[in-house]
Amino acid sequence: MTSTKTQLQSFHDKFQGKKIKHCRILGNTLNFGYDSLGICCSSTLPHAPVLCNTDLVKRGSFHKDDFIQYLLEIMYGNQCDGICTGCEALEEFVFEGFDYGSMQLNHIIWNNFRGCNSRCVYCTENNSKILESYTAYKIAEDLYQEGFLAENTKIDFGGGEPTMLPNLKDYLQFGYDHHWRQTINTSGILFSQDIYDGLSQGVSVQISPDAGTRQTYQKVKRCDCFDRVWNHIGRYCDYPDQVSVKYIVFSWNSSQEDLDGFVAQCKKHGVKRVVVSGEGSAIFGSAADGYTWEFGEREEAACAYLIQECLNNGLAVYFSSGNFSKTIQKRVLQKLSDFLKDSQTENKSGLYIFGMGSNGKMLCDALMEANIPMNGFLDNAPEKWEQSYHGLACQRLAGMPREPRGIPKDSSILISNENFRPVLEQLKQEGFQRIHIFHV
Ligand code: SF4
Ligand code: SF4
Repeated sequence: MTSTKTQLQSFHDKFQGKKIKHCRILGNTLNFGYDSLGICCSSTLPHAPVLCNTDLVKRGSFHKDDFIQYLLEIMYGNQCDGICTGCEALEEFVFEGFDYGSMQLNHIIWNNFRGCNSRCVYCTENNSKILESYTAYKIAEDLYQEGFLAENTKIDFGGGEPTMLPNLKDYLQFGYDHHWRQTINTSGILFSQDIYDGLSQGVSVQISPDAGTRQTYQKVKRCDCFDRVWNHIGRYCDYPDQVSVKYIVFSWNSSQEDLDGFVAQCKKHGVKRVVVSGEGSAIFGSAADGYTWEFGEREEAACAYLIQECLNNGLAVYFSSGNFSKTIQKRVLQKLSDFLKDSQTENKSGLYIFGMGSNGKMLCDALMEANIPMNGFLDNAPEKWEQSYHGLACQRLAGMPREPRGIPKDSSILISNENFRPVLEQLKQEGFQRIHIFHV
């Protein structure tokens, strides 16, 4: 049988320097699924793309070479009509080449268990008993020992409900041992002391109440746990920067009463970070799939309204672009246009993005796509000051000359940094008032 290195070399020889269909996630991510291993957590396709079945992981033997061999099959396939076809993230790249030694994963997803205490209408999870298909962290540890997991690997908990996992502590410990960032998606119905304790060690938690009223919560989640979940959110918010509260918008929860109720609950319980997303099956599925809800113009307006209300109340907003088509994202941002460029129309002072890293550039791309004019970037890193992106120059903030040469204090500034607190303080001290924390 041809060795992995030889197979990799022939792909390299065939495509290096040429344009190939590829995506920035492909080859970096391993989704430890229940019935199969996946290559990403894309929700832009009706079905998660599969790398291979779980035979090897169930036998406790899955190695870097196995991953690469399956990956190559997918990459060859994608050049014609492969499993990523239809995904918006699949783009044409000039292929720079492969180097076996430096190939590493930097994102793993624990999606190898099923069972949940919630019954979200949009979820296929129907089992109230927790079932773990195989012990994924043990496979990951072997991959780490082989040098296939990067030093900055990020872990996400997907699948069923992690607070019901009897060995949640072991999964968390695996992440602590390597000092990796871990994000836990939970229904919030059970309060987990293990998760709470992890919040001070870099664990983040994300909960999606998807409602601002008890009635809507009950309809969407098919259980009566509205107050309980918000209470648990409040307890986790002892560490507010580690907690994200998500709203998956669709026609069942897009009323103003729910959106206002959600913002009020966030304020009441000390939430600082909100994720606004759309219901994937309504957006990417078809009516033939039998969904009895939709995502239309009213829901786009609901997303824009929710984002605006959250920003106005000082919440950091991540407009989770992964769950939207680019067209919907653009239309939502266009609805936000007046709000975002408000200072430009009133005072001609402008709109700036703070942070010229990948978040800032993605935000810039999205705002440009929506024809929202910007005046430039701000950044504290000296190496960015000489740079520009899409013709927008990056300026320094620290040590910037005062007006009139500096940036007018009534400018709108969108902070794109993940770690936004120091920047927020800095901007406030500089006298800026229209500051929002926003990324896409
Ligand atoms: S192109 Fe889409 S489906 Fe394929 S790996 Fe990237 S995100 Fe996943
Ligand atoms: S909380 Fe998550 S796993 Fe549970 S039913 Fe809802 S979407 Fe599914």
